[in-house]
Amino acid sequence: MSQEKLGAALGIIARLETAGHRAVLAGGCVRDLLLGRRPQDFDVATSAHPQVVLDLFPRTFAVGAHFGVVLVADEAEDGSRITTEVATFRTESSYTDGRHPDAVRYAEHPEEDVQRRDFTINGLLLEAGRLSPGLLHKAAAGGGLSGSEAAQLQAAVLDFVGGVADLRAGLLRAIGEPARRFDEDRLRLLRAVRFAARLGFAVEPLTMQAIRAGASGIAAVSRERVRDELTKMLVEGGARRAFELLDETGLLGEVLPEVARMKSVEQPAQFHPEGDVWQHTLKVLGQLEPGCAMTLGWGALLHDVGKPATMTRTDRIRFNGHAEVGARMADAVAERFRFSNEERCQVVALVANHMRFVDVQRMKESTLRRFFRLEEFEAHLLLHKMDSLAARGVLENWEYARKRFAGLSEEEVRPRIFLTGRSLLAAGYKAGPKFKEMLEMAEDAQLEGRVRNEAEALALMREFFPMM
Ligand code: ATP
Ligand code: MG
Repeated sequence: MSQEKLGAALGIIARLETAGHRAVLAGGCVRDLLLGRRPQDFDVATSAHPQVVLDLFPRTFAVGAHFGVVLVADEAEDGSRITTEVATFRTESSYTDGRHPDAVRYAEHPEEDVQRRDFTINGLLLEAGRLSPGLLHKAAAGGGLSGSEAAQLQAAVLDFVGGVADLRAGLLRAIGEPARRFDEDRLRLLRAVRFAARLGFAVEPLTMQAIRAGASGIAAVSRERVRDELTKMLVEGGARRAFELLDETGLLGEVLPEVARMKSVEQPAQFHPEGDVWQHTLKVLGQLEPGCAMTLGWGALLHDVGKPATMTRTDRIRFNGHAEVGARMADAVAERFRFSNEERCQVVALVANHMRFVDVQRMKESTLRRFFRLEEFEAHLLLHKMDSLAARGVLENWEYARKRFAGLSEEEVRPRIFLTGRSLLAAGYKAGPKFKEMLEMAEDAQLEGRVRNEAEALALMREFFPMM
């Protein structure tokens, strides 16, 4: 798909150039091509005004045309739609709300355009029309360029902000005056953390200082946009570094005070040689794979969020009921950030159930099988594994649960139930409050293999629940 997106962008650039306009690849894709990483999207920047772009390409969406962005549609080989963002060179003037520019003005020259972009490494442009498509496709596949190919790629880069040097040095630096740039658009505070973490870059000191000073301004950003940035930090790789940086910058306390409270909450050393609840959580985040489910990412972040509130010192440090308290707190976080219902349920379930693995080897067969009925049980297993590896590294419960789960069929975990309320009525029982208990006992017996059909289940009922 990435190669098809590149093909689409190159086609658009060629068409714009033939019509006499300037057109280049811009932003994140140039950064990624130079780093030998696979770009997600290929954005085009051009001197052509939106109306010109709309006229040149028959299949376009004018969604952002009033601020200079047109989406051009192409068809991928499999029939799915590829859309390419084509943005007119522009400058942005005065921000009064910390979110949106008050006005945009189109610019003739690309050097004006890059000044509105956030970070030097995101402010690079590539004159793709000067390069062979073959070379670009090779670079987009994730590097492996020969020395002379890399030099050709470099030579086609337009760098007005020192982005190439910062890429080489591994530095994330704001374009222009950092404090002003973060003040214009507060979302950049989180974007800075996200890019530094994902790429393993250091934050340039003046940029860092400005983030620290401006951290409380993040409150001006909508919760959805904050959520989306945090989610990307959790799933794009570098989650541990992202949360360390959120902490170092003071952003963590602003966006997730309940997570910030994990800091310095001591744990019993015999179970948690790694340190306090925050150290433990960071070690869990360090195991998240790029591309993991957002629910796993948030579940990992919040699994011990109930610990600070439940800590007691009796015979030793204890966190009684922390999973239940944590589940309620996770629910509040999910609500605050307007997760979908499905996401919210899964994150809450991950937190609520994470301590149950402690008992798996002692569980009754029926309890174990009911435990396995949790939706996406594999995610629960994975969180438990990460949780264990972040503590003493003992994986016995994980091994046991994994083997037992793999060894059971869907039918064994969720069998068709032999005994229903209707069968009890048909057998002559009178409907009543006892039914629930009876049906549960019958289902337990079925899950444990003690009854093999409806008749045997009924016989068991007759034994324990004599008819009045
Ligand atoms: P990703 O790989 O995460 O998509 P990206 O660099 O492509 O990274 P986008 O959010 O897709 O990031 O934005 C594309 C480009 O637009 C950025 O590289 C940057 O130049 C510019 N940009 C995006 N958001 C902002 C912002 N809030 N302020 C300034 N420039 C921005
Ligand atoms: Mg992008």
